[in-house]
Amino acid sequence: MLEFDKLSLNIPDTTKPRVVIIGGGFGGINLAKKLKCEDFQIVMFDKQNYHGFWPLLYQVATAGLEPDAIAEPLRKIFGSDDYQDFHFRLVRVTQINPAVKTVSTPIGDLPYDYLVIATGTKSNYFGNDQIKKYSFPLKKVPDALNLRSQFLQCFEQASMTIDPEIRQSLLNFVIVGGGPTGVELAGALAEMRKNVLPTDYPGIDFGKMNIYLVEGMDRVLPPMSPESSAKTLGYLQGLGVNVMLNTLVDSYDGSVATFKNGEKIIAHTLIWAAGVSGALIEGLPTEAVERGRILVNTHNQILGYPDMFAIGDIAFMKTDEYPRGHPGVAQPAIQQGKLLAKNLQRLVRGEKLEDFKYHDKGSLAIIGRNKAVADLPKNKHLGGFFAWIIWLFVHIMFLVGFRNKLVVLSNWIYHFFTYERGTRLIIRPFVRKGDRAKRKFINNYNADE
Ligand SMILES: Cc1cc2nc3c(=O)[nH]c(=O)nc-3n(C[C@H](O)[C@H](O)[C@H](O)COP(=O)(O)OP(=O)(O)OC[C@H]3O[C@@H](n4cnc5c(N)ncnc54)[C@H](O)[C@@H]3O)c2cc1C
Repeated sequence: MLEFDKLSLNIPDTTKPRVVIIGGGFGGINLAKKLKCEDFQIVMFDKQNYHGFWPLLYQVATAGLEPDAIAEPLRKIFGSDDYQDFHFRLVRVTQINPAVKTVSTPIGDLPYDYLVIATGTKSNYFGNDQIKKYSFPLKKVPDALNLRSQFLQCFEQASMTIDPEIRQSLLNFVIVGGGPTGVELAGALAEMRKNVLPTDYPGIDFGKMNIYLVEGMDRVLPPMSPESSAKTLGYLQGLGVNVMLNTLVDSYDGSVATFKNGEKIIAHTLIWAAGVSGALIEGLPTEAVERGRILVNTHNQILGYPDMFAIGDIAFMKTDEYPRGHPGVAQPAIQQGKLLAKNLQRLVRGEKLEDFKYHDKGSLAIIGRNKAVADLPKNKHLGGFFAWIIWLFVHIMFLVGFRNKLVVLSNWIYHFFTYERGTRLIIRPFVRKGDRAKRKFINNYNADE
């Protein structure tokens, strides 16, 4: 039997400056790729052993892709001879100790010369514990698999009830948050309803399946241009999604969603895509944190700590152009990671550091087959087929790993010609903690459990 206290971080001693990176997301991997192992010892900690390509997470949730197509093992990314002094450890960092320059994990502490926090974000429920308990987040691979199981279990159960109210609540899907994740998920579900589900479940009238996309503001995709928002609204409505603008959720008890305007929807599934906050770690002084993100200067240095940095979604860099920080998308994280690698090299050589300048390459969102929107540099906006082609191309380009690019591309080509969504598998049934009724139902067909 493995005793937990026999584990240790087991990082070799070094005479080189040690850079500890917390998080192997977009920021962390781009930093580590550019740092040179001849100059630094690089230690990366992550609570998952892979880099996740979150822009395609909704496709895992809607049975379009298997999770391994959007995730790349961190040890594989850094497995070549170029990274001989790179050390990955699968642990959650629980505490930062700036006074003694160490980080703490459940299996020990490690001293650092430079610390980079690249921990991204977590779902923000704005203090509503009931919504947190009953809703489905979409932030991690296990979330997407839970959601995929939930969708399919709802259809299976709807095919086995004659009670119209129960059936309706199984066929109502509420997505809260009209940002890119909500829009893309709503579009993908609507495509499934049109092309896949009626063949799988001939006994269900899919005219009765409702997809509600709830947004508190007056347009969908608020971070994008009004032109793209308007086009997206049209595409969603064309796909039969019920878009509820200027609407805020008040409560959700697992069966009924109640809105601030008093409206109610019965639904077994409510997906929370309405907000995130920084994945902070204990130990940072409160003055370094603002609105759940870490305040940094234009070199990504944490204010007051010249040897500590934050990059990506967790970093809050206020500039004249971005007084509320950079958008929480992959490009700022990638660009900050790459620049920080150069700046750390400059720092050890005693050279002047370069300021971060964000190169906005534009924003994209996909709604469905042949339907996407793009805000391009120079205030250009595209919609429809051409935006869809750009979306496909950009996502293949930025996926990490040749195998993943190949798998995703071949899947998309297959889906395009067959209208299929191949991974409609309930591998691990979803049961919410304490949901005895569902546990009993699952035990009926899963007799081994
Ligand atoms: C569903 C979804 C869809 C998205 N769609 C798009 C899109 O279409 N286009 C776009 O540009 N952006 C999109 N984004 C946003 C984009 O993914 C983020 O902006 C980007 O991932 C930020 O990179 P990061 O390195 O800051 O954090 P992340 O990529 O989130 O990486 C953070 C890493 O830190 C690790 N970590 C966190 N806390 C700890 C800890 N205490 N100890 C150890 N490890 C820890 C996590 O496991 C994770 O691997 C989407 C995000 C989501 C969730």
